Amino acid sequence: MLLNSTLLQSRLNSKRKAPPRQSKAGVINCDLDMGKPFDIELERLTGKTSYTDVFPGVTTGQRGTFFLETFGCQMNDHDSEKVAGLLLSRGYQQVETPEAASLILYNTCSIREKAAQKVFSRLGEYREKQSEGKIIGVLGCVAQQEGEDIFKRAPWVSLVCGSASYSKLPGMLAQLESGNQRVTGLDTDTDETFETEVTRRDNPWRAYLTIIEGCDKACSYCVVPFTRGPERSRASDSILREVRQLAELGYSEVQLLGQTVNSYADPTPRRMRFSELLLAVAEVRGIRRVRFTTSHPSDFTPDIVEAIERQPKICDHVHLPVQSGSTRVLRAMQRTYSREEYLEKIAMMRVASRPIGITTDIIVGFPGEKESEFEETLSLLDEVQYDSLYAFKYSPRPNTPSLSMSDSISEEEKSRRLAVLQDRQREIQTAKHERLVGDRFEVLVSGKSRRENQWSGYTTSHRMINFASQERELLGTYVQVRVMGAGPNSLMGEHVT
Ligand code: SAM
Ligand code: SF4
Repeated sequence: MLLNSTLLQSRLNSKRKAPPRQSKAGVINCDLDMGKPFDIELERLTGKTSYTDVFPGVTTGQRGTFFLETFGCQMNDHDSEKVAGLLLSRGYQQVETPEAASLILYNTCSIREKAAQKVFSRLGEYREKQSEGKIIGVLGCVAQQEGEDIFKRAPWVSLVCGSASYSKLPGMLAQLESGNQRVTGLDTDTDETFETEVTRRDNPWRAYLTIIEGCDKACSYCVVPFTRGPERSRASDSILREVRQLAELGYSEVQLLGQTVNSYADPTPRRMRFSELLLAVAEVRGIRRVRFTTSHPSDFTPDIVEAIERQPKICDHVHLPVQSGSTRVLRAMQRTYSREEYLEKIAMMRVASRPIGITTDIIVGFPGEKESEFEETLSLLDEVQYDSLYAFKYSPRPNTPSLSMSDSISEEEKSRRLAVLQDRQREIQTAKHERLVGDRFEVLVSGKSRRENQWSGYTTSHRMINFASQERELLGTYVQVRVMGAGPNSLMGEHVT
């Protein structure tokens, strides 16, 4: 499907001027810098001809300017898209640099210690900005975790707001404008999901949609239940309404998000199951690809695989974090499944009528992880043959049960295990990719290299492919690509008709 060209151009123009990201393969992943103003008008976001109809009395910039920087996962990125939409709809204008902003916001991540440290070092860089009259705010997981202590560590911060309180942001900003020195939004005991009238989406083709917030699982290493609060599912009719709007705006791919997306529990009388929601989203006219992440193994049921088999628009990719290949370690992690139970879920996908790409997350060096248990994780990689994985060294986090577990593994040993695991996975991926040479895939083109005639995009199974084409404009289109070569992290190919 070709996007309407005016719409495509307006999306390209709306894209933030970020330095191009260089992938390992040397191809620019995203080349959307069209040299146009960074600010985006609400008309474009809402598809309306005049936003005064949607937000009476709002003028862009009347409340000031904001700069928003995001650290962390896809859910944080998407929260930032919603925070930006919320502020735009209240008359703030988004700017590209902290220097140009009256309000500087950091949406933060605390999943691992390093991520949290990065936030404080960034805050340090903006210490002097407060004296220039700027408001500095911390949002997200570090905000929730550290709470008012942030004011002690970084007294130049005046706003601290966790993700469960984002809808209160305009009120909090109004309090600061009326003279309050410091405001906080730290409640997590809410049924509310963060729905906004406007979301300022950064990706012009793939739209992210949070369908479930928070987490009710209690993995012993994880801060998410503390920082994002209890599980809250969004009403299915509201999700479907937004998907229809997105399709009207020209988005053809949607990705449903949640820490445990497949634990979705529709709060409406329809009581849609997650698999039914996937099918309903896929049926929306104009939607061509439906993705979802992250799935929790315990809630991964056969009807999800059946939905993937039945509806080709539901992408043949499942991200199913295992964390460890040892049942004893999984118990210590409070992961609610054993190695064998996890492998049953994999087997369910392997017998599906449509091949399904499977990816995972792994933690190495959990307290007490013996060498033999780490080797069980390596043997799990051999057995499952993942298409790719994210691997992390265990990082002790505040408030989590594993913090007080004995037998911690040295940093050196964690690094060694991580390197061994990554080497093993690289071999698996290289061999898997080589077997794909000669195959043909549908690719949604999302990147253009600076090298002439070179493009990149993703297959439905979320494999990145760099390819050559003589076409002049392909961004946002779906094309057929034949695989001509393979590396561990991506495929190389050529455009075929
Ligand atoms: N909800 C998802 C699940 O159940 O697997 C994971 C969400 S978490 C934001 C993403 C990944 O971060 C996890 O899968 C885990 O591998 C990693 N992670 C979480 N806490 C960690 C910790 N304390 N140390 C190292 N890695 C961690
Ligand atoms: Fe964290 Fe476990 Fe919830 Fe995932 S399922 S967010 S790892 S507590």
